[in-house]
Amino acid sequence: MTQPNVLDGLPEELKELDQYETIERRVAEIMKADHKHTKVGAFMKCKKCQPKMAERRTYLQDLGFKDYHQYLKWKQVMGIMKQIDNETKEKAQ
Ligand SMILES: [Zn+2]
Repeated sequence: MTQPNVLDGLPEELKELDQYETIERRVAEIMKADHKHTKVGAFMKCKKCQPKMAERRTYLQDLGFKDYHQYLKWKQVMGIMKQIDNETKEKAQ
């Protein structure tokens, strides 16, 4: 039995490390706020943060993610890949 791959069905360009960095920068920009929430519940109800979440969702959907969960999984995988990439570069020096 094969493990379902979280990256399955994603556009090829989302598998590029360069894209990962660009997307992470853009998401951070969208979510940038002048305040913080310690509780997720408060964050979900916040009138200031709600439009940001909606914008992030639209941005991620436009990129080809089917939902936020898939984005989180992708983020995890890309984070590991980036680490491997950095280690490989260090060894090559
Ligand atoms: Zn807020």
